[in-house]
Amino acid sequence: KVTVLGSLNADTIMHIDRLPKQGETMAMHDATTAPGGKGANQAIAAARMDAATTFVGAVGNDQNGQMLLDAMATDNIDIANIKTHQEIGTGSAFIMLEKDGNNTILIHGGANQSLSIEDIESAKDAIINCDVLVAQFETPLAVTLKAFELAKQNGVFTILNPAPAKTDIQPELLSLTDLIVPNEIEAETISGIAVTDEASMADNARKFRELGVPNLIITVGARGAYFSTVNGAGFVPAFKVNAIDTTAAGDTFIGTLASQLKLDLSNIAEAIRFSNRASSITVQGAGALPSIPKLAQVQAAFDA
Ligand code: ADP
Repeated sequence: KVTVLGSLNADTIMHIDRLPKQGETMAMHDATTAPGGKGANQAIAAARMDAATTFVGAVGNDQNGQMLLDAMATDNIDIANIKTHQEIGTGSAFIMLEKDGNNTILIHGGANQSLSIEDIESAKDAIINCDVLVAQFETPLAVTLKAFELAKQNGVFTILNPAPAKTDIQPELLSLTDLIVPNEIEAETISGIAVTDEASMADNARKFRELGVPNLIITVGARGAYFSTVNGAGFVPAFKVNAIDTTAAGDTFIGTLASQLKLDLSNIAEAIRFSNRASSITVQGAGALPSIPKLAQVQAAFDA
């Protein structure tokens, strides 16, 4: 059983030739709005791997909020602990996608930032009655800290995806984290150690252990993922595919991992290989949610 505490965003993708200049009015080719947010993507990845998945989060009382609730329910995610805020709108991301493939993104936290300690207390059952609790940095840190405290008091395994990168993390949050899963930039932001070769990844693992996190996975895009746990360390290469859109690659990896990992971490290399496989499918499709694979697709990709 997986519980995800995290963000729900309406992603609006604007297709443009180039960024407008200051003061300029410019036409775009097309704008489409779809469900997104790191929390939502990760929960959907876990649910599509057949994990019983519960979400703790918030939307606004608006059309985008309804779109997100519908999307989560369609993937069989338990939405009983998603609060609908009456005054603050659903979180949103505005993605300016240029012809050459470059992205410029503006985010409004909206209802995601309205999550409170009281909301965590109301969602206590969902947080303590699961095997794995997953959180990111698109909801307030104090709220995540409270959830991790409850989780650890009740023997729940905690996974922190420290994204987007942030520096002002409470030391207590790290000491309540069983497994941290950053990408290269997020790892360096916390550890101060650039991620280059495998030796630098091992240095990161040592630093994270000093900070109180016993287990680390660093995802390194098309290269794959490095792990260092209480049981040992290694590198699991990615699958070679023709990537067309890497949106939600990391989120697919995290959600899949949460669904596959044995809590004693005895199958970590295998779980990472499976998550690499799932993410390699996501990067071959456009957009976030439509390209996140189901369990059978990942299994079929192994057999192919
Ligand atoms: P994020 O999206 O958070 O920056 P990464 O870029 O590290 O995360 O990607 C997460 C995982 O997705 C990688 O560990 C890998 O398994 C997979 N992945 C990402 N990009 C590619 C790619 N171009 N080809 C194959 N797999 C990829």
